[in-house]
Amino acid sequence: MTKVATVEPIPVSYPEPNDFNATRHLCLVRIETDDGLVGWGEAITQFPEASLATRAIVEGMAERVVGRDPVHTNAIWESLKDRAWWYGYAGGIASNAIAAIDIALWDLKGKILGRSVLDLLGGPIHDRLPAVASSHAHYSDIGRMVEEAQEWLAPGLHGVKVGFGKRGDARLGYEHDRDVEYMRRMREGLGPRPQIMIDCGWAVRWDVSTAVRRVQAFEEHGLHWIEEPLGAWDPEGYATLRAKTTTLIAYGEKEWTLEGFERVLATGTVDVVGVDPGRAEGITGFKRVTERVEAYRRQSNAHAWSSAIVSAASLALSFATPSAKLFELKPLRNPMQHDLVTTPFEHREGWMYRPTGPGLGIEVIEEVVDFYRAERVAERV
Ligand SMILES: [Mg+2]
Repeated sequence: MTKVATVEPIPVSYPEPNDFNATRHLCLVRIETDDGLVGWGEAITQFPEASLATRAIVEGMAERVVGRDPVHTNAIWESLKDRAWWYGYAGGIASNAIAAIDIALWDLKGKILGRSVLDLLGGPIHDRLPAVASSHAHYSDIGRMVEEAQEWLAPGLHGVKVGFGKRGDARLGYEHDRDVEYMRRMREGLGPRPQIMIDCGWAVRWDVSTAVRRVQAFEEHGLHWIEEPLGAWDPEGYATLRAKTTTLIAYGEKEWTLEGFERVLATGTVDVVGVDPGRAEGITGFKRVTERVEAYRRQSNAHAWSSAIVSAASLALSFATPSAKLFELKPLRNPMQHDLVTTPFEHREGWMYRPTGPGLGIEVIEEVVDFYRAERVAERV
């Protein structure tokens, strides 16, 4: 029987062109078996201190993983949840750590059994999924942002999701007239077909009446969904917004646990539930969440805005649930997607096709991991 020999957490730092070249942070996990197989996982930590905390928790949890059969993903996941009883019962960094370990174990399980993660999840529900560009608005000139979106959509992408309140000069999310002008010109420039989604970043703080006014104005121009217009948790506010608008409301991506997602679903105010396997306790956690999303007849949407490891997990999970309707890709070339693996994820004429195995179906280039190790990046600056 194959056994886990080592569990290594690896904080990485990298420049993200899709985020105005900001330095972003992840904590990867490399698990090796006694017969030399390697599985990869990722926690989407975003901040250096969160990466370091995740590393410490993974190191502590490793004693519950080493010596185990990697095929036993569910049993190990339960054991890790049990381990976190004091510091992570309701989520937090413990969920990041569990996420990264769980994804790496699923990768190994697939490699051991010679099947893809998608096969192990029960197989594809979809033949293909529409791909959309998931971007941040950066430029001060609205015309330039429309042109950029036109370029992204030219090879066939089905839509564009735009982050408001991000780094750069776009100043979107702050003034009613400029926001509505942007939406109007995007629709005019892209034509009637492409889906346009707006994602309100952390810096955008609308009150309920502002959110209602904005979304009503955006609706005139066919906004497909509004994401986190009232943040991660505001059930009364979301109920009001929902009563006064018809645009789909998306949130949930800041939840960690099944209980957190259940709480959001139970409000009856969410149409599109954002989930990130690198945060919401891995492939095991995401799968449990999508089963609840399916029961509520809502849409799930993989957050997938970090490395190719989370993209691989997200793609398999999206193909395995009827609740997924599209897949997001970062439009600009970036190191954690395009350099980290031998075959980066790309759409074909606007479509994503089912991932093939074994495991996550990616080959991680270890020299690239080493280059972006957080301590080495720190030495270079
Ligand atoms: Mg979002």
